[in-house]
Amino acid sequence: MSARERGAGVLDYSVVVPLYNEEEVIAECYRRLSETMGQSGGEYELIFVNDGSRDRTMELARALAREDGHVKVISFSRNFGHQPAITAGMNAAAGAAVAVIDADLQDPPSVILDMIAKWKEGYEVVYGRRVKRRGETLFKRVTAKVFYRALNALTDVHLPPDAGDFRLLDRKVIEALRSLPERNRYVRGLVSWVGFRQAAVDYVREERFAGVTKYPLRKMLRFAADALTSFSHKPLKLSAFVGGLLSFGSFAYLIVVLCLALFTDVTVAGWASLAAITLFFNGIILIMLGIIGEYIGRIYDETKARPLYIVGETAGFGGFGGASAAP
Ligand code: UDP
Ligand code: MG
Repeated sequence: MSARERGAGVLDYSVVVPLYNEEEVIAECYRRLSETMGQSGGEYELIFVNDGSRDRTMELARALAREDGHVKVISFSRNFGHQPAITAGMNAAAGAAVAVIDADLQDPPSVILDMIAKWKEGYEVVYGRRVKRRGETLFKRVTAKVFYRALNALTDVHLPPDAGDFRLLDRKVIEALRSLPERNRYVRGLVSWVGFRQAAVDYVREERFAGVTKYPLRKMLRFAADALTSFSHKPLKLSAFVGGLLSFGSFAYLIVVLCLALFTDVTVAGWASLAAITLFFNGIILIMLGIIGEYIGRIYDETKARPLYIVGETAGFGGFGGASAAP
């Protein structure tokens, strides 16, 4: 079925590739994606989203767009992050089905063909499930595992474990995602949240083709906090619960202390226990304030309603252009 018959955009497939300082991989990435999409039997476009790279990534992407009409480039005015980059690509995509894939070839492009087959069976979301992760540190694997287990326990959306942002989405899903105005974007959570028929395709996650990870611990933590706060109020409820429990315990202890003072001669040696109790409770209170602050910060971000990203330059889009784009 062609894109036109489906009544979608003018293309069959779009492939969105976020790029942040990927000068070492972009050429090979382009080669493998072109090869794969050439076998798809449909009209396709490759959308490279340059997320404010400070190396030659943009230069190379521009050259690819000049040489190959399939290539389109969106370039941010600075580094806005992986999730905004994916979002920008999905917003610009014209395909009846849109694939999202990392540039570093950890997710093999050929898997997109399996995803397309599933999509043709009628699934609107086809996600890649990593049955094996090669070349990732033990630390990354363990933190990823703990994170997904914790997230599933704490949130109401079900996230398939071992699935990243490597996936193929039907136009209907893309439109649904576009209608979500939120700024703290945890794309894979949003994809789960919008629903639709979902299917998995298993694959082995390879080592990075070249270069180093662009997700240092700092970004991973932020990513985790975004995921948690976007999809769950449970940390807030947990604060209330812990608060309730501690108040109850304190009250019981207060009665014990009063009884001891009123009815016995036991003199309590005071300072050490007082100091311990005060420090403990202050610690708990500050943690709870921190959790509340995390949510308030996000409310603040949402109310400012700034665009998710600013586009500094585009290439290969023909008439499309302009200095900025809102999500
Ligand atoms: N990326 C991005 N902006 C960022 C960080 C990463 O666009 O701020 C891109 C990066 O170029 C790559 C993808 O997101 O295409 C995944 O990043 P990476 O492979 O470094 O993450 P990892 O696989 O180590 O989790
Ligand atoms: Mg990677």
